[in-house]
Amino acid sequence: MRWLDDPFHRPRAWAFLAVAAAISVASGWIFLDMHRPEPIVAGPGVTSQKMLSDWAPVLAGTAADTPVYVLEGAEPGGTVLLLGGTHAQEVAGMMAAVLTIENARPARGRVIVIPQANRSGFTHTDPMEGFPHRYEIDTPTGPRWFRVGMRLANPIDQWPDPDLHHHPQSGEGMVGSETRNLNRNFPGDLRGRFTARIAAAIVELVKAEGVDITLDMHEAYPEYPIIDMLVAHQRAFEVATITMIDLQMRGIQIDLMASPPALRGLSHRELGDHTHTLAILNETANAAMGRFRGRTDETLVTEGRDENYVRAAGLKRLFVPFTEAGHPLKERTARQLAVIEEMLIAYNEQAAPERQIEVADLPQYEEVSSEGIGKFLLAVN
Ligand SMILES: [Zn+2]
Repeated sequence: MRWLDDPFHRPRAWAFLAVAAAISVASGWIFLDMHRPEPIVAGPGVTSQKMLSDWAPVLAGTAADTPVYVLEGAEPGGTVLLLGGTHAQEVAGMMAAVLTIENARPARGRVIVIPQANRSGFTHTDPMEGFPHRYEIDTPTGPRWFRVGMRLANPIDQWPDPDLHHHPQSGEGMVGSETRNLNRNFPGDLRGRFTARIAAAIVELVKAEGVDITLDMHEAYPEYPIIDMLVAHQRAFEVATITMIDLQMRGIQIDLMASPPALRGLSHRELGDHTHTLAILNETANAAMGRFRGRTDETLVTEGRDENYVRAAGLKRLFVPFTEAGHPLKERTARQLAVIEEMLIAYNEQAAPERQIEVADLPQYEEVSSEGIGKFLLAVN
C-alpha cells in the first residue's frame, strides 16, 4: 500500500505537526526566558546604578552591556572593583557580588560591583552537560531566583568560533571556543569581537575610575589544582599574601599562587599589566562543575554535596577536602566575602591614607556559612 492510500495519513501528519509545534513553542519559551535577568536589589549603600556602556559606549544596546553598581562612602578614599559572573556558572562569585550590593555600606572610598561581568554567559548553559538553568534561595520575604550560566559568551552573540583563539596582544594560541571566554580576552579591544569588547570596557572602567584594587570572583571543580586559592599579579602579591595569612588565622584554609607571566588574557595578569590596579582572583570549589559529579540539578548547585566527590577525596584525587557535608553555596559565598573583607584590610595596611577603603555591613563569613544566604537577600518589590 502506498502511503497516500493510507486513510490515516492526513491525521497522522497533523499529529506530527502538532507535536513538533508543541516542542518548538516549549523550547522557544525556555530559550527566551533565559534572556530574562534575575532581580538584583540596590541595597542601602548603593549610591548610583550605571551600565558598563557608560565607560564604553560601543556596548550600549548590545547583549555585552551589563549593570554596574557604585557604593560610595561619605569620606573620600580609594576604589575597589568586584567582578562576579566573569564565568556565569561559577555562581558563588556572582552571589558574593549580589550580597555586597544588597548589604554593604562603605564609610570611606568606593566599592564598584559588576555582578554579571559576562552577562551573555548567563543566557545559556553548557551544551550536553544537563545543567539546571536556575536555582532558588529561600529568604524571609519569599524565594529569590538566580541564573546558572556558562563560562563562555552565548554563541548567538559571537559566532563562529575560530579554530584557534589567538590572544591578540601576545599571539598565544588557545582552543577556538576560548574566544568567547571573558577571562582569556583581557585587556580586550573596543573594536574587537563581542567578548573582547567586554574586557576592554572593564579596562576602561578601571582606568577612568582609578580602581586601586580588583577582585575577580571565580569557582572551579574540586579536582582542579587551583582551588580555594588566590591568584595574584606580582604588584598585588604582598596584599594577597597578607590576605591569605589573615584568612588562615581565622581558620579559613586558602592558598596563594603568583599569576604566571605567560598565561595571557586573564584578569589578574592583564589588569595588573595594563592598569594601575592591584589584581587578584579567587577560586572556590563547586562540585556542580566537576567531571566526577553525579546527578546535576539545582540541589547540587546550592548544596554542593556529591557521593562521588566524597569517594574521590578518599582516593586523594581532589585538591580540597570533601566530606559528606560537601561545599554548599553558602560556604563558598562566605569564602568569597571573607576574601573581600581581609583583602581590604590588607590593602589598607599599605595604601596611602587618602586611598583607604572602609566598608561596613559586609556579610560575615561565620554568619553566611552557618545561617545561609537568604537572610542577606532583600525583598524584591
Ligand atoms: Zn572561572
